[in-house]
Amino acid sequence: MEDQEFNPLLHLQGLPLFSHVKPEHVYPAVKSAVDHSIQVIKTVVAAHEADPTWDNVIAPIEEADDKLSKIWSVVSHLNGVCNTEELREAHDKCLPLMAEYSTFVGQYKPLCEVIKKLKRTDAFSLLTDAQKKSIDNSLRDFHLSGIDLPDDKQKRYAEISAELAQLQSTFSNNVLDATKGYYLHIKDRSEVTGLPHAQLVQAESEAKKRNLDGLVFTLDIPSYLPFLTYVENRDLRQQLYIAYVTRASDQGPNAHKWDNQSTIDSILRLRHELAHLLGFASYAHLSLATKMAKDPEEVIAFLEDLAHKSKPQGLREMQELRDYAAAQGLEGEMQPWDVAFYSQKLCKEKYAYDPQELRPYFGVSKVVSGLFTCAERLYNVSFRPRFGVDVWHPDVRCYDIYDRFSSKIGTFYIDLYAREGKRGGAWMDECQSRRYRSDGSLQLPVAYLVCNFTAPINGKESLLTHEEVVTLFHEFGHGLNQLLTRIDIADVSGINGVPWDAVELPSQFNENFAWQEEVLNFLSCHEKTQQPLPKEKLESLIKAKNYESAMAMLRQLEFALFDFRLHLEYDPEKGSRVYEILKQVKDLVAVTPQYELSRFPDSFTHIFAGGYAAGYYSYKWAEVLAADAFGRFLEDGIFDEKAGAAFRDCILAVGGASDPMKGFVAFRGRKPSVDALLKQSGISIEPAAAE
Ligand code: ZN
Repeated sequence: MEDQEFNPLLHLQGLPLFSHVKPEHVYPAVKSAVDHSIQVIKTVVAAHEADPTWDNVIAPIEEADDKLSKIWSVVSHLNGVCNTEELREAHDKCLPLMAEYSTFVGQYKPLCEVIKKLKRTDAFSLLTDAQKKSIDNSLRDFHLSGIDLPDDKQKRYAEISAELAQLQSTFSNNVLDATKGYYLHIKDRSEVTGLPHAQLVQAESEAKKRNLDGLVFTLDIPSYLPFLTYVENRDLRQQLYIAYVTRASDQGPNAHKWDNQSTIDSILRLRHELAHLLGFASYAHLSLATKMAKDPEEVIAFLEDLAHKSKPQGLREMQELRDYAAAQGLEGEMQPWDVAFYSQKLCKEKYAYDPQELRPYFGVSKVVSGLFTCAERLYNVSFRPRFGVDVWHPDVRCYDIYDRFSSKIGTFYIDLYAREGKRGGAWMDECQSRRYRSDGSLQLPVAYLVCNFTAPINGKESLLTHEEVVTLFHEFGHGLNQLLTRIDIADVSGINGVPWDAVELPSQFNENFAWQEEVLNFLSCHEKTQQPLPKEKLESLIKAKNYESAMAMLRQLEFALFDFRLHLEYDPEKGSRVYEILKQVKDLVAVTPQYELSRFPDSFTHIFAGGYAAGYYSYKWAEVLAADAFGRFLEDGIFDEKAGAAFRDCILAVGGASDPMKGFVAFRGRKPSVDALLKQSGISIEPAAAE
């Protein structure tokens, strides 16, 4: 029996004892760690105001923070993978504590002053690059939290921040209410011919929820998208489409009810004022202060270059779709609510392929061992399962990773299967950072890798779709970034401190291997024939992936350019100019038919309620880096030893400790180019080279 008093969260030496953590341990552990961190900060700042060094100020704070982040990692991880009502309650009870702590750190002026002083000492130049970067990041974040402003401006900063938080929440509530506030009621099934059975069942249960007969369709994506994709009745598609693109606006079936236009105007005005207070020319400039892209010109040029090169093929894809629709008997011009419907039909005709059909090739154990083989060959490491480790569920596997001298460099957990109480999706998260402890010993990085694949049934191994295999490679790419780090300062080691627009580089890069014939030879094995995936199946898989890729690319570029220019060009004299800028962007990039009264900005939550403001471009930015980095392996060989070592040294190992552009240039010998991504997506730049 374990001691009644024992709280495993307060004794996190080595790997956590997940199965011993109980909801009642959570709050006391988090509270004591937060109190401890605050106490340490106050104490060291008071004691070393005059003689700050890394060892007497930063190291003790890092040690205290490490304790807190390890506890919080276990708590939020368990909350995600074995959720119970009690655990969620305990987790949620700590959220205000965590928020208060981060506000305290961000606003504690004496700490900022001491770190500034430390930066001015002679000793600063003797610190390692990672230590310097960690200090610079702290000072940058202090500055961005308004701590350097004179009192009156600091007050205004706080007012704006509070108001913005309120407005963003209003924006997102309006979108939620508008999404919920509409449904399409269909009495007769024959009106929605074409819809797959699963969606009919779903629509029936939506109707029952509302005490209605027949079917109900909503503006939630799982209901809306299949409707637009499969329902043959054009008028009904139009009806649902218009309801969707006019959510929370002055148009459509619920016009003016939850209109976000004035919220957008206020958000843009306040963001601009906030950026000005901090000394930036625009909110776009402020956004880039923490990102890899250097300046707005670089971002705009990047997006326009991609748009310019993708547009000819986008136009061809659209023409092909128009021709196809006309041949299918579509009357008049193609409309926005026709695009998904005919795209799906044409795709099915051109590349008849069923994702389920490839499952027999991808048994889980073969895939996981193939995944490891790739990393072993690329980075000269090896993996060994670790037994007898305490885990949160019997399905979880634990592995140690070793370098070429057989020294252990990290540990990770893999939790592959969906089950009750587990959050959906796939993700990688940090359990522990690589860092030196105060006693001089090295703490190795530990990571969680979580997926939601179908669990084995009756002892029969799980078989994955190729899409799931790609997901696993993606998350493992994040994992390698965490595990192969050589940085020993917690807040810039592994994935910590990596700029937002660079963090998806290792993950998207790693996806590429799941598309290579050479890899599929050892990654796949048919459960009956024992044969790897045939070449022609891989080829049609790639073709299906790249179907209408230029149209998809242009759509993302439209969002990214609109978001960025909106924040860059804001002028208090002229107001927000939302539809003027949107029209200019559409003129440049859009190839699909447009609905004149569409109000998509009114529901663009990524940028008005999420963290993507003047940052939506990050998706494409990271994709370009990943594709271009992988280009070197296509040139030198998929498992070229030198390329693997260089990728590890320049990208994976350095974490957030140095400028990712420098790392990229060191690896590739030049700055990134968009051409590799275009090629990978099957977008040909030469109009003449059209298929
Ligand atoms: Zn990712």
